[in-house]
Amino acid sequence: MKVAILSVGTELIFGQTVNTNATYLSQQLNLLGFDVLYHYTMGDNPGRLKRILDIAYEDCQMIITTGGLGPTEDDLTKEIICQYFDDELVQNEESLSLLKAYYQQMNRTMTDNNLKQTVLPSKAIPLQNHAGTAPGFWLEDKGKIIISLPGPPREMKKMFLDEVIPRLKSLVKDFLYYKTIRTFGKGESSLETEIIDLVHNQTNPTVATYAKEGECSVRVCAKGSSMEAAELACRRVIDEIKNRLGEYIYSYDDEDLVQVVGRKLIERSISISSAESCTGGMFAERLTEISGISKVFDRSFVTYSWDAKEQVLGVKRETLEKYSAVSSQVALEMVKGLYNITGSDICIAITGVAGPLSDGDNPVGLMYIGVSYKGEIFVEKFQMRNIDRKWNRNYAVLKMLDTVNKLL
Ligand code: ATP
Repeated sequence: MKVAILSVGTELIFGQTVNTNATYLSQQLNLLGFDVLYHYTMGDNPGRLKRILDIAYEDCQMIITTGGLGPTEDDLTKEIICQYFDDELVQNEESLSLLKAYYQQMNRTMTDNNLKQTVLPSKAIPLQNHAGTAPGFWLEDKGKIIISLPGPPREMKKMFLDEVIPRLKSLVKDFLYYKTIRTFGKGESSLETEIIDLVHNQTNPTVATYAKEGECSVRVCAKGSSMEAAELACRRVIDEIKNRLGEYIYSYDDEDLVQVVGRKLIERSISISSAESCTGGMFAERLTEISGISKVFDRSFVTYSWDAKEQVLGVKRETLEKYSAVSSQVALEMVKGLYNITGSDICIAITGVAGPLSDGDNPVGLMYIGVSYKGEIFVEKFQMRNIDRKWNRNYAVLKMLDTVNKLL
């Protein structure tokens, strides 16, 4: 079924509020097997709202709106939808008694404008709001469906999960199976080039690529008359993607790189410690997001200055002077020093130029990662594309995680 999402709220078009509702609904609807064709975003304006409904129903059977259901004057969504469907607003007794109970429980007095919230189109099914006061509604008429949800994301999500999804499921005949394959180390365009025939020629399953802060994902999604049939359709394509991109793939289950690394370290009881220069502790910060990591993560030193590298890790002053702080020689001495202190199974050190200014000797984005593992010690050099300081540092952490993941 084809769907449009209509986000109503003047603050959205002014750029004061990020439209997270549309993103959330699109993700959920895709998972449920609906085709989201459009996102419309508009202010609280009756004329434009009517026009958008006309336009959206040209291609879609269902529209989901968020926002404009509250008690204030400018909350007009409900009134306009009601006119559009030639319906009238009537007091919904169930919603009214729930609202009264809510105010009683909160020990607050209900104002008259709150009553406005419990008035709904007569043909609508009310959707109760368990996280706020404005009920939503589901209205079906002449082959068109409209679902109206409140604007505040917390209320909208709860209503969608509790009240909308069970009803939507009865509309979907197909079973949907999908896998999100996560990759690191290959840009989106180059990754897409390798699988472009699959992206273009497949309708079931569909194959799509997404880029996200230095990583890329490939989503394979199939519909079938049973879950097994849908899974089987995906499996063939996933195997083909594995053949082509295997070395870059780190997860078939939509896990983050840090989750994969953390899980493997914990499962295999492999201890780890780090020494960080340009990432300033970000590697440790990311790793400690993982619950249970204390079993294997020993410590991280932030050794930013020459003095710190010398005093904490025993990097020689001559090495720093001769080769500069961003060099394979320094990375090697950093990791040796780290191993001498911690003796961790994996020791990893990084030094690099995060930018935007160069250190005078090296280009921005040049990084060295020193690693010791099972008696072996090596340094990896890499030159990343310089985007900006934030991106460069984030990418450096991903590169460290990728290095550890490959060892594991
Ligand atoms: P209420 O009046 O009870 O708050 P409502 O349904 O009238 O609910 P709005 O007044 O349109 O909702 O929006 C309430 C708040 O919800 C906004 O100030 C904004 O912070 C947030 N919000 C609204 N729409 C969105 C959206 N699409 N994405 C993210 N946040 C939103």
